[in-house]
Amino acid sequence: MKYSSTRDPKHKRTPSEAILEGLSAEGGLFMPEAMSLMSFPMADLPSMSVRDISVAVLSRFFDDFTESELRTAVSGAYDRAFPGGDIAPLQRVGEAYVLELYHGPTCAFKDVALSLLPRLLTTARDKCGVTDEICILTATSGDTGSAALSGFADVPGTRIVVFYPEGGVSPAQERQMTTREGDNIHVCAVRGNFDDAQSGVKAIFSDPPEIPGLRFSSANSINIGRLAPQIAYYFKAYRDLMAEGRIVMGDAVNFVVPTGNFGNILAGYFAKKMGLPVGRLICASNRNRVLTDFFETGCYDRRRPFHLTSSPSMDILISSNLERLLFLLCGAEKTAQWMRALREEGRYTLPEEAHAALRNEFSAASADDAETAETIRRVYEANSYLIDPHTAVGFCALEKWRATEEANGAPVVVLSTASPYKFSRSVLTALGQETTGNEFTDMQRLCEKTGIAIPEPLRGLSERPVLHRDSRGVSEMRSYVEQCAGGGK
Ligand SMILES: *Cc1c(COP(=O)(O)O)cnc(C)c1O
Repeated sequence: MKYSSTRDPKHKRTPSEAILEGLSAEGGLFMPEAMSLMSFPMADLPSMSVRDISVAVLSRFFDDFTESELRTAVSGAYDRAFPGGDIAPLQRVGEAYVLELYHGPTCAFKDVALSLLPRLLTTARDKCGVTDEICILTATSGDTGSAALSGFADVPGTRIVVFYPEGGVSPAQERQMTTREGDNIHVCAVRGNFDDAQSGVKAIFSDPPEIPGLRFSSANSINIGRLAPQIAYYFKAYRDLMAEGRIVMGDAVNFVVPTGNFGNILAGYFAKKMGLPVGRLICASNRNRVLTDFFETGCYDRRRPFHLTSSPSMDILISSNLERLLFLLCGAEKTAQWMRALREEGRYTLPEEAHAALRNEFSAASADDAETAETIRRVYEANSYLIDPHTAVGFCALEKWRATEEANGAPVVVLSTASPYKFSRSVLTALGQETTGNEFTDMQRLCEKTGIAIPEPLRGLSERPVLHRDSRGVSEMRSYVEQCAGGGK
């Protein structure tokens, strides 16, 4: 099977090449041409393990990998990153189910895909007969950075450069990145917001510095190798609901997804395309509600103030993966036009039929910081269950959706994207407790108040030495990359 660019069907690649390159040279994203033929073996689902599910999904996306290559990659990644076993436990919380995706090494859902990506990428490189070192360039709104560093640290033949918005991530997120050890890693704060950092990285991809023996790739969800592994846990949640007797095969299930770059929710849409009976995909946004407005009006308009919120990993105004959805809906020519309009005019508007088609599958709602805090408190008081601000945005969106005409009676799964301890200050405040002004003491206090254990990877974070202190303006990102990629460490 071939992949082609969302902006130009002439740019064709094998699956391995698509993973290796990350982003198409003219700026588009890679999509499998035979998406409509990739169906999941639903009849086998009840007896499949998470790893089986993952291999089944990946073998359809990456059909130039052998089954045994994929199985080795999946087992190797998950044995190491999820020694506890269950990658995505499903919990009943009140009327909803919560899919906890934060039990990996950096306590956010990005670990699921980023523990696997280095293995997919190095196998893809071998398949392409490439011997170059791979330099991963990543812009992070907080969680991708630490998860990518965890996945790529000291992986032979790779180097990784992470850019994060200075002052735009939580103290725990920043610490996870700046204390990370590894001979092949570079971490740099950017004086700008996430969109600035992401645009800077995309600009470097579109005109990469030429360094002999080195090529660039991406660990953001613009890379299909990062996106595809996320599809598996939607099937896993469905399997668990069947096992519990809550549904029978064929029943619809709704999913609520706290959304930023539109990667996680798009994985849910892919699962649906592959045959999972997904009812509604509910796109939850924080105060940066560009997607909520888009689903409501059909107009994507990024010309608006950017807000720093208590859910920083969703502080995004340019949701890159929406491009893949537009492509599936309307094809490359229209997608290219809209992406140009977004770049040049800051907005684009869908034709009415396309907007209506989206409204049939997606719902959207947003929550501001006050509503988010209120939701954390309410969910805790009603269920003794602690959620982080991103997950709380999801719960609040669910509540709002239930009051709309789009609501239905099918079970709802809320994707929980981060551990509450990654955002201790916000969570503590939401519970009506005083913060100490120090994120790490707050972590301790939150634990005392709730009796819920601090995840192992976050313990001791404040004592680890800071190893990375680089900081650059947006215009200096390119020279920083040249310096890292050329010089080594
Ligand atoms: C990245 C992230 C999101 C947003 O996911 P997208 O795939 O970018 O939509 C939500 N919550 C948390 C905690 C995240 O780290």
